[in-house]
Amino acid sequence: MVLFDFGGTLDADGSRWSVRFHAAYRAVGGKQSFAAFDRAFRESDRALERLAGIERLGFRAMVDAQTALLLPRLSDGAALPGRAIADQFHSTTCAVVRRNEELLARLHQSYHLGVVSNFTGNLELCLEELGVMKYFSVVADSGRVGITKPDLRLFQHALSHPGLTANPAWMVGDNFESDIRPAAALGLSTAWLAAASEKSRESGIPTVRLSTLSDLAGVLES
Ligand SMILES: [Mg+2]
Repeated sequence: MVLFDFGGTLDADGSRWSVRFHAAYRAVGGKQSFAAFDRAFRESDRALERLAGIERLGFRAMVDAQTALLLPRLSDGAALPGRAIADQFHSTTCAVVRRNEELLARLHQSYHLGVVSNFTGNLELCLEELGVMKYFSVVADSGRVGITKPDLRLFQHALSHPGLTANPAWMVGDNFESDIRPAAALGLSTAWLAAASEKSRESGIPTVRLSTLSDLAGVLES
């Protein structure tokens, strides 16, 4: 069984939503540094979790909702074209997911695949819209399960899904503390998608490092 994180893993090679939204914001003339932008982004994340009907939003609608919650929290946000920011984030994300679909289709022939993600209850809808839900046997969305990574129980929720072969099991993710450390604690093999400059914070983990998700096939099939 191969478990994947979603944000920064299936939709980008180790780059978080805040980093990619910041790039889209700068591309249309936004002036704030990442640090200031990230504070507003985190607030928009919390507002998104509380948004009425969030559990029914697909991917594009969610990107639009996050943009709408984010811009009023930035001093220069009101003057910027939200549509263009959402378009850029959406198109770059879709391009990476389309590339990764090839990998998922290939791994799907040999492994049960799952997603373990801190999300907002609408991850299955987003995966459907992105065209990759058909590859996953289980989706553990924290917003649905009520448990958030790094809590081991969110991983166990996926691993114990009826009818799935849990061994050997891998976890693939971009966040050391929420993806890699807890999965290793459960005895899973781990693939950490991170820049080479990021140092592991515990000896012996991860099992492998990846600079792009595309390299995972070579690791699992070697
Ligand atoms: Mg992530």
